Amino acid sequence: MKRYYVWTIGCQMNEADSAHLAAELEAVGYRSTTRAEGADVIVLNTCVVRQSAEDKAVGRLWSLAPLKAQRPDLVIGLMGCMVGYKPSAALQARFPMVDVFMPPSEAGPLVEYLRERNRLDDEGAAAWEQEALRARYDLQDGLGAENVRPIARRVEGVTAHLPIIFGCNHVCTFCIIPYRRGPERSRPLAEVQAEARMFAEQGVKEVTLLGQIVDRYGYDFDGLKGHGLERRQPGTDLADLLAALHDVDGLERIRFLTSHPNYMSDRILDAVASLPRVCEHIEVPVQAGHDEVLSRMRRGYTVDDYRYLVARIRERVPAAGIATDVIVGFPGETEAQFQATYDLLAELKLDVVHVAMYSPRPVTAAERRLDDDVPPAEKKRRLHAINDLQERIVGEINQRLKGQTVEVLVEDKDRERWRGRTRTNKLVFFQAEGDWRGKLALVKITWAGPWSMIGELAVDTTADEPIWLTPVPLVL
Ligand code: SF4
Repeated sequence: MKRYYVWTIGCQMNEADSAHLAAELEAVGYRSTTRAEGADVIVLNTCVVRQSAEDKAVGRLWSLAPLKAQRPDLVIGLMGCMVGYKPSAALQARFPMVDVFMPPSEAGPLVEYLRERNRLDDEGAAAWEQEALRARYDLQDGLGAENVRPIARRVEGVTAHLPIIFGCNHVCTFCIIPYRRGPERSRPLAEVQAEARMFAEQGVKEVTLLGQIVDRYGYDFDGLKGHGLERRQPGTDLADLLAALHDVDGLERIRFLTSHPNYMSDRILDAVASLPRVCEHIEVPVQAGHDEVLSRMRRGYTVDDYRYLVARIRERVPAAGIATDVIVGFPGETEAQFQATYDLLAELKLDVVHVAMYSPRPVTAAERRLDDDVPPAEKKRRLHAINDLQERIVGEINQRLKGQTVEVLVEDKDRERWRGRTRTNKLVFFQAEGDWRGKLALVKITWAGPWSMIGELAVDTTADEPIWLTPVPLVL
């Protein structure tokens, strides 16, 4: 039996792409292995958002060169943002050990290569398989096979990632993603729904919908006229998709990330508030707390716009957990401008702040036009200052949950304790008899730290029916 090994680095989108690739390889007869040395096919799914991620992928690739020299029949695939949506000849010349280059989210080139190589003339079988999938999941009649992303067929675990929109049109000055993942393309609603149903049938209880700007889902539908996709209902947006997925039997929870502040409409927030299976969890990066920095980043909003957005989220979805991203040390960021970011975060008291030090990425406008003038030590100091602040803030927020009962979707057992997440994405541990994996538990919080909480079962039952707990707004 032939074996494959997939190594992944980077964001949740890459993890979803790797799971999808694995399913595609299984469909053509390959099975997974945890040892690269024993594999017939090795794929590196790469990230270039930061230099360190790119360096790791390059190091890993060169470490495979001796293996390829020993076993020329070994197939090496390079996938993801290092390849970009149009693989370049320069990349192919730089890494001669690679047999197949795959753009992000595209397993097709490798599968085609393996079919060709294994002399599997199975075009007819593939067409039959598409038809069978279409019938099984009620995909829209007449939706061209070329527009249907083959459905991942194998998932493990209680949670799964489900990409709904690929690429990005925004071109923030620091970001390499649009150059590597190409323009924005939303997946047909029926196809997303079919994949969610397939996940639910395999035991998945929670799906996280993914996109670089997930709240722009559907904005490109008009632009695809003439490509066989105009059959989708006009006006379909993320709120419609959430409503459609809410009806999928077996799914208990739906999340979505990452949003852009400019597209977080009241319609989407009202869908979050009114659909019990959609979690009160909003990830919406601010990136900086000073208007001049935001303008140099070309983010398209002001600090006051972001303040207003947070107020709007809290008004419409009072129990929402809000997460954000921040970049420190962006070109030209003065001490006062950094302080403005610090002060904004102290004022807004969000649940999670992912903070990163700016690192110039090739081809981006910031790399070409702006001087990377904040010294590395100063970037590090700013990063630590925000992390320290956030640790205090989230510690306070979590303290207020002590004594409250929260709904936890149990993902797994760590030693003697069950581990799961609240609707607002907070980590909770508790001890209980029985098998809680994949179940919703009501847990009373008895201890709260900044990064996790401990509790005890509030209702001692392994209920098969979902338990809806009215979200409790936190008063800050
Ligand atoms: S919105 Fe900006 S930061 Fe996000 S993927 Fe698009 S270009 Fe990058």
